[in-house]
Amino acid sequence: DRIAREQDREFAEFRKRLKDTEQFKLDDGAFDDATYAAIYKLVQDGHLGAMGGPISTGKEANVYEALDGEGGDVATKVYRINASNFKQMRDYLEGDPRFEGLRGDKKAVVLSWTRKEFSNLQRAKTAGVRVPEPLAVQRNVLVMELIGREGDAASKLSDVTVENPQMAYEVVREYVRRLYDAGLVHGDLSEYNVVVYEGELVVIDVGQAVTVHHPSSADLLERDCRNVANFFARQGADADPDDLLTYVREH
Ligand code: ADP
Ligand code: MN
Repeated sequence: DRIAREQDREFAEFRKRLKDTEQFKLDDGAFDDATYAAIYKLVQDGHLGAMGGPISTGKEANVYEALDGEGGDVATKVYRINASNFKQMRDYLEGDPRFEGLRGDKKAVVLSWTRKEFSNLQRAKTAGVRVPEPLAVQRNVLVMELIGREGDAASKLSDVTVENPQMAYEVVREYVRRLYDAGLVHGDLSEYNVVVYEGELVVIDVGQAVTVHHPSSADLLERDCRNVANFFARQGADADPDDLLTYVREH
């Protein structure tokens, strides 16, 4: 009918406008048609106003600055439907009671992965871990709080001089413990997935975080502790992987 045709036309125009935006021209397939539709839905629902420039382009996802419906800053993470490593992604979903009976195909895995990151952010936040606040999820697109400001996104811990390594270590140690208490293991924790803005440490990239039910959760926790302790020890903190593991498990 007429309204449906009108809506189709509006969507086509929206997609064209987004496609013509400079920052998307060079993009190689993070944005299939269904991704444009997901962004459009987020706009209609008031979660997004406009897409901004890329903060990061990665193997699995791109992260963009964006504005929400009211003009506030947000970050938008767009997972590639054509993720090259979806078999690995599927392994991370295994044993997770939240994703039982998942279809094994690429699209289903990437969509579950996106929802998993959203729900992991919620769970981490509830557990008292400083993460970007999750705002909305639609298909392979996740909208969250932007850490930093427009044009001045937070830096990774790996890219800054840590002012007080001992204190920073103790903060991250507490985050790992709280996550574990809430039944989650980050699984890719290191100086590359902690950002810092105005002295505040924020854990990001929780898509691969697994519940303690996952067959590899113990190994992943051990690796997280090793990465974190070794990094802070190099910065001069009194940090040791085994002590950290014990602290996380037994406090
Ligand atoms: P991946 O490492 O899988 O590509 P991340 O979630 O780690 O994805 O995001 C990639 C980069 O984007 C991060 O290293 C960080 O610099 C930036 N980033 C991600 N989320 C945010 C956010 N909410 N606020 C500010 N910067 C972010
Ligand atoms: Mn990352």
